[in-house]
Amino acid sequence: MATKLDPRALGEFGLIDALRRRARVARSAWSESIGDDAAVLRPRPNTELVLTADALVEDIHFRFATTDARSLGHKALAVNLSDLAAMGATPRGFLLSLALPPIALPERLEGFVSGLLATAKKYRCPLVGGDIVSSPVWMFSITAVGEVPRGKALLRRGARIGDRIMLSGDVGGSALGLQLLEASAAREPRARPFVRRHLRPTPRVEAGERLLRWGVATAVIDVSDGVVQDLGHIAQFAGSCAEIDIEDLPLPRGFRAACSRLGLEAHELALAGGEDFELLFTVGPNAPAARVFSKRLGCPISEIGVLRRGRGVVARRGGEPLRLSAGGFEHFKTLSLPSDK
Ligand code: ADP
Ligand code: MG
Repeated sequence: MATKLDPRALGEFGLIDALRRRARVARSAWSESIGDDAAVLRPRPNTELVLTADALVEDIHFRFATTDARSLGHKALAVNLSDLAAMGATPRGFLLSLALPPIALPERLEGFVSGLLATAKKYRCPLVGGDIVSSPVWMFSITAVGEVPRGKALLRRGARIGDRIMLSGDVGGSALGLQLLEASAAREPRARPFVRRHLRPTPRVEAGERLLRWGVATAVIDVSDGVVQDLGHIAQFAGSCAEIDIEDLPLPRGFRAACSRLGLEAHELALAGGEDFELLFTVGPNAPAARVFSKRLGCPISEIGVLRRGRGVVARRGGEPLRLSAGGFEHFKTLSLPSDK
């Protein structure tokens, strides 16, 4: 039976000790982990390390009114794993900086830690260190470490005019899930897959690793801020215009119907919504068809557009172009999307 994670009863060092006992770090990969001044990783020969950090702050990125603590623990790590996936990296471990209110509920902390460590186990990415501080609100920052064969990391830059644009899975479900949570409609059976998509995103770790090994992608990014925004980064690096056809955008089953019940425009939500954590990548004009990608990457892949001369991102619906500018989420900008993203 694990120690009850009560911050007030355990204190900082008691909490660290409880985390250490539950973290299960393989000694083959980490010669030191929780308990010393810093963790020591043994990289494999001819590899490079890939590092990423993501912070989530209570009432900015999540609210306990719309998420359970276990999902939060999962998501805190999943968003970092998605960044590693976009680099084609194999996860190796992560550090957790945890800021807690002194009166943090033990059930909440327990839920958070069990969700976090279950995801860590699933992706073989152990907790190897971190920090704990007190704070007026919950805040956590995860720094994840991955590994790629030397010189092979998948990058946002590298696409060229004429390259085709591919997307894993489907988009819009997470943004719709958030809308449903906000509208207190999350318990409806039809809402469940979308809410789950928002609270428990699946990072495309294996697809990213396979994409790296295959070596066919010219540029890769994960969709965290919305297709338009994230595709914009690839287009910008390529000095080109990303043109996508809205009809080719893969939407989850039941998505259109659910959007229309809420009075939302399905394609707008799918293009600008964000937190899909899919892989968006480009391939050369002679690369195989999307169905070949689906088979080799082990997940659905759709071809959604092409890079042309020009700038920015253009979406077409049946030939009609519509320019999209302020799609997606960007901190510190005024925007019309929900304020708690
Ligand atoms: P220092 O003051 O030297 O930074 P700490 O007391 O903060 O040391 O941390 C002691 C050990 O506990 C370190 O190995 C650190 O990585 C680990 N640790 C602290 N907080 C966490 C946490 N939230 N998750 C995992 N390990 C942690
Ligand atoms: Mg410290």
